[in-house]
Amino acid sequence: MFRRIRSYCLFGIKAVPVSVEVDASQGLPGFTLVGLPDNAVRESRERVVSAIRSIGKVVTGFRTTVNLSPADLRKEGSALDLPLAIGMLVSTGEINVEKVERYVFVGELSLDGLLKPVRGVLSIAMSLPRDGENILVIPRANASEASLVEGLCYVCADSLRECVEYLEGGGSNVPLIASGIKSKDRPPSLEVPDFRNVVGMEGVKRALEVAASGAHNFLLVGSPGAGKTLCARCLPGILPDMTDEEILETTRIHSCARRSGDSAEFRPVVIRPFRTPHHSASMVSLVGGGARLAPGEASLAHNGVLFLDELPEFNRCVLEALREPMEDGFISVSRASGTVVWPARFMMGAAMNPCPCGFAMDPKRVCTCLPDARKRYREKISGPLLDRIDIQVSVPPMEANALVDRRERECSADIRKRVCAARAIQRRRFKDLPFKSNAEMSSECAKRFACMSPEVERFAVSAADRMNLSARGFYRMLKVSRTIADMREAPCVEIVDISEALRYRTIN
Ligand SMILES: [Zn+2]
Repeated sequence: MFRRIRSYCLFGIKAVPVSVEVDASQGLPGFTLVGLPDNAVRESRERVVSAIRSIGKVVTGFRTTVNLSPADLRKEGSALDLPLAIGMLVSTGEINVEKVERYVFVGELSLDGLLKPVRGVLSIAMSLPRDGENILVIPRANASEASLVEGLCYVCADSLRECVEYLEGGGSNVPLIASGIKSKDRPPSLEVPDFRNVVGMEGVKRALEVAASGAHNFLLVGSPGAGKTLCARCLPGILPDMTDEEILETTRIHSCARRSGDSAEFRPVVIRPFRTPHHSASMVSLVGGGARLAPGEASLAHNGVLFLDELPEFNRCVLEALREPMEDGFISVSRASGTVVWPARFMMGAAMNPCPCGFAMDPKRVCTCLPDARKRYREKISGPLLDRIDIQVSVPPMEANALVDRRERECSADIRKRVCAARAIQRRRFKDLPFKSNAEMSSECAKRFACMSPEVERFAVSAADRMNLSARGFYRMLKVSRTIADMREAPCVEIVDISEALRYRTIN
């Protein structure tokens, strides 16, 4: 008997519909699997046959042909175990399912018939029509992802047995309707340090507030131990809450990055990610790709912060690969089978020492680096990359008497209120445009929305000229000025805003 079972495969972040066509007929027993399966899919037959035997059914003794369509898409991973098992059970007449075409199955099976979670269930759930006619059948460990897609009809099961019981009309399982993202899903984050605990460094705090207000990239340069990393780690505490749309976008990427067989409970990403890849990170781990076509750190930081500590220690090619997402907000990885596009719109943060020994900016210590070594160290970061960093600040070494300063300092929550107000102005400004923050503006928009008077414009142009800013550098400086003006709720960019923005470009 021929039966067609619906399922999905992942291609990058996209979920592509796949039909598992099973034909079981009388004849010399055998099993043929066609339709570009990878090794994990090829091996699924062994898992599936054992799992089916574990629930007391027999599907061997038939001449079984399985086709995975569309035939030109490479099918990866173990998520096709469940649809294959159901297909074999239905086509051999072992079970009888009414309207099997209503169901979409995904899940990995173990030999004893347990259902194990798979990656990318959120992408699959989002691409399924929410009309009540389509029911997604998934492992229970993936339930938290399906529940995020409001209106989705889904059934979760722990084992093949539970799944079969449900399909035959028995058991206690009923289809659930997803309720969408609930505000109670957003716990206050406890791991993020508070700016209240950062002593001194008012200039750095201000720079980070500007960066957060406009989603600008930033670079902190200072001696070892000056508190660069601590300051950067405080940043998530002053960023605005994620919107529901952002939660879905980011969770979707994290769901695709999951390792298969990872049975730990998957939690939606409700707090802006703060990713800190190590400086030994490879190209694949940073921008994605590899054999599994998994997203990299840059995509995992989508809607959050990608923080690169010890920036010059990173491999130069790896850093250069970040230029594309910094400019466009996505990463494309080309494959023989097509181009995979990963969203990667992040705020890039970086920290570095001023020279190899680290004391070039310290008035009390002597830098022992030769000028040549210092130059080489700086040159590890290319001009074009540095050009894309809107806010560059030096972090002064801490004064000893600042440590005993007991004055009341502002806490992150208060700074965050101002950041949210500045972001609200930007949302209103860009409501008909494809941008969310000042940092994303195109050059024309940067100029238009700055609405400078001729006098201010003359000042900006002559200052940029004196500082040898490139055209990109000039527009980036304008965007930062726009953010600073937004922070004081001013409609037009003035000379004060431009002067402050220019100060953030003076590292070199
Ligand atoms: Zn030095």
